[in-house]
Amino acid sequence: MRIHDALRMSSIPPPEAEVLLSTALGKDRTWLIAHGEDDLPADKQAAFQAFVSRRRRGEPVAYIMGVQEFFGRPFSVNPHVLIPRPSTEGLVSLAMDILRVPHDETQEIDRGIVAVAKMLKQHIRATIVADIGTGSGCIAGTLACEMPDLRVMAVDLSKEALEVASENARRLKVADRIRFMQGNLLEPLRQISEPFLVVSNPPYIPEGHTLPRDVAGFEPAGALFAGKDGLSVLQMLMKQARRHPFCIGVVLECQEDQVSALLE
Ligand code: GLN
Repeated sequence: MRIHDALRMSSIPPPEAEVLLSTALGKDRTWLIAHGEDDLPADKQAAFQAFVSRRRRGEPVAYIMGVQEFFGRPFSVNPHVLIPRPSTEGLVSLAMDILRVPHDETQEIDRGIVAVAKMLKQHIRATIVADIGTGSGCIAGTLACEMPDLRVMAVDLSKEALEVASENARRLKVADRIRFMQGNLLEPLRQISEPFLVVSNPPYIPEGHTLPRDVAGFEPAGALFAGKDGLSVLQMLMKQARRHPFCIGVVLECQEDQVSALLE
């Protein structure tokens, strides 16, 4: 079978088929497009077929590949962590603005999704960020790469997620500036006595909300859902941030219709 026949017969969207086949071949997409007439060796065809079957059952391409690009860098992912979303790149950009010049701001980063910055102490800048619910570590790792003087504390409840996040930090060569801590929200940070900014993409989807099959069937529910109105984690996080004497503010991802309940 030739390469372009294999792509055509896969019956999944062409861009996805191209990513899966180039990975099975260990080549990039440009090579694949240029070599459509080449014969596909039987072992590579079998590897591609296995990927395609997983995709047809709804498994996200990022889990099949084990990687997702975020802010131009590759992050390893597995089903213990949420797949980094383009919207969260907007959260990271706002966090960088806030670290440079602290201020309140709400920005739409996707349809109905916002990044909210709320300062809790005035006239103090932070050189430490706490990424709460770090998952793959995409926020912590990106901020550490983009801001070479920044130190990051990356917190997650899940030991498996912290393993993924620390592996990503090692690969990006920023592990020396990120401290990984297992625990709930700000609880592992009780002893911190330097000003820090919370940056978080917490679970904020209302329980019972119907999500696409790829998301609902494969991504960790604990990273997505937060109570009846999706506010339970956000509100707890906000409460702990307000109480912490060294938390200068928060930059949070949430639904637009959750902002007023969060800031009241
Ligand atoms: N911080 C990670 C991300 O933004 C994980 C978020 C989560 O699990 N809710 O992708």
